[in-house]
Amino acid sequence: MEKEVYKLWDIVLKNIEERINNSRTFDLWIKPVKLVDINENIMKVEIPNSSFEKNFLPYIEILKEEVQKTFGFNPDFEIVYSIDLPSEIKEDFFEIPLNPEYTFENFIVGPSNRLAHAASVAVAQSPGVAYNPLFLYGGVGLGKTHLMQAIGHFVKEKSNAKIAYIPSEYFVNEFVTSIKNKTTHIFRNKFRNLDYLLIDDIHFIAGKEGTQEEFFHTFNFLYDKRKQIILSSDKPPKEIKFLEKRLVSRFEWGLIVDLQIPDFETRVAIIKKKSELRKLNLSDEFIFYIAEKIKENIRLIEGVLNGIIANINLLNRELNKNLIDEIIEGVYSSEKKEKKYINIKQILNVVCEYFGLVPEEIKSKKRIKNVILPRQIAMYLGRELTNTSLNSIASEFGGKDHTTVLHACKKVKELMEKDKSLRDTIEKIKERINEH
Ligand code: ADP
Ligand code: MG
Repeated sequence: MEKEVYKLWDIVLKNIEERINNSRTFDLWIKPVKLVDINENIMKVEIPNSSFEKNFLPYIEILKEEVQKTFGFNPDFEIVYSIDLPSEIKEDFFEIPLNPEYTFENFIVGPSNRLAHAASVAVAQSPGVAYNPLFLYGGVGLGKTHLMQAIGHFVKEKSNAKIAYIPSEYFVNEFVTSIKNKTTHIFRNKFRNLDYLLIDDIHFIAGKEGTQEEFFHTFNFLYDKRKQIILSSDKPPKEIKFLEKRLVSRFEWGLIVDLQIPDFETRVAIIKKKSELRKLNLSDEFIFYIAEKIKENIRLIEGVLNGIIANINLLNRELNKNLIDEIIEGVYSSEKKEKKYINIKQILNVVCEYFGLVPEEIKSKKRIKNVILPRQIAMYLGRELTNTSLNSIASEFGGKDHTTVLHACKKVKELMEKDKSLRDTIEKIKERINEH
């Protein structure tokens, strides 16, 4: 891309920084977004990973507006993860940036999470001894990622131990890439040299036979060497669908603890802590009000605080209960949308897993039967499950033409009408996509 384009992009970011008027938020969730390509109105932007994406999405509207202002067109964004780079290019993959806010100091302990917190501190202090593996589970937004990353901060600060915190999609992607590049030995060594292996949202490997097999061996290797393994999931091991029995039983060897919904007092303390971190001065009345209204997911509380900051700072509105209600409503409805948010990459990965292909084959121009049908199914699902435009889908599939996508959708629909087993296959694939 031309230099000019980068300059314009810098202007966009700068304007957003001014608008957001909160340098922490900006540094964490906007600054790392890189523009890598423009094709007509499609802007390809690179972000670190899918957990970053969740935090970045709320800002996408602002980003659109600023691009419109500076570049003069209304963009569609194609989001790619930088962790998808082939492993040779980024050897130092252990450095998945930890969120600086997710420390033990910033974690509020209450009855709902006391055990999980104590166990996390224990493994951070004495790895491989007490609880191995440590398995944390619980609903969305109850602090699993926070605790795991707190262990990461603690270990990095206090010791020279080698530690990797990895969202499990990342483990899967790395593994698939290493098979494709014939570098599984490198992949293996990276993981087996660790003193601590933390895999977040491990349920994501369920149903992926190859990855489970590899993880099984990695697990055994580390376990035998008394290295600490820490896993998180939305459910206890037994309840994770499509997770191999031998993994379930290993996950049960150590300590399994759950995080529950925090009680009122804990929620109040969390809101106080989070406001303090954001330099937001809220009266107790408002803090209690928010703690009453939002119970089951702390991430939503965070969304509300960010919403308050935006309304006070950007729009100069005065804070009152009506405004808080409005913000809460907005946070709930965007949470609903986000739940349904599925991207082409996820679809591609699941379809590939299902048919035993690698994404590059689907993106290639190969015209062999084993590839054509999965490719068409993936395109069809891309159309059905996301709001992505035909053009964007076409470009995610290796720069094909949008008519190819249209044709694929038509073809799959026709086939499904006649073929029950194809309908079942697609149902199964959809189920797996939804589980991710
Ligand atoms: P999970 O991984 O379980 O979905 P996260 O760890 O991402 O949840 O937590 C969601 C948000 O809630 C994070 O911003 C986290 O800092 C915050 N949070 C959750 N529990 C606590 C707690 N006990 N103290 C402080 N913050 C918390
Ligand atoms: Mg998490």
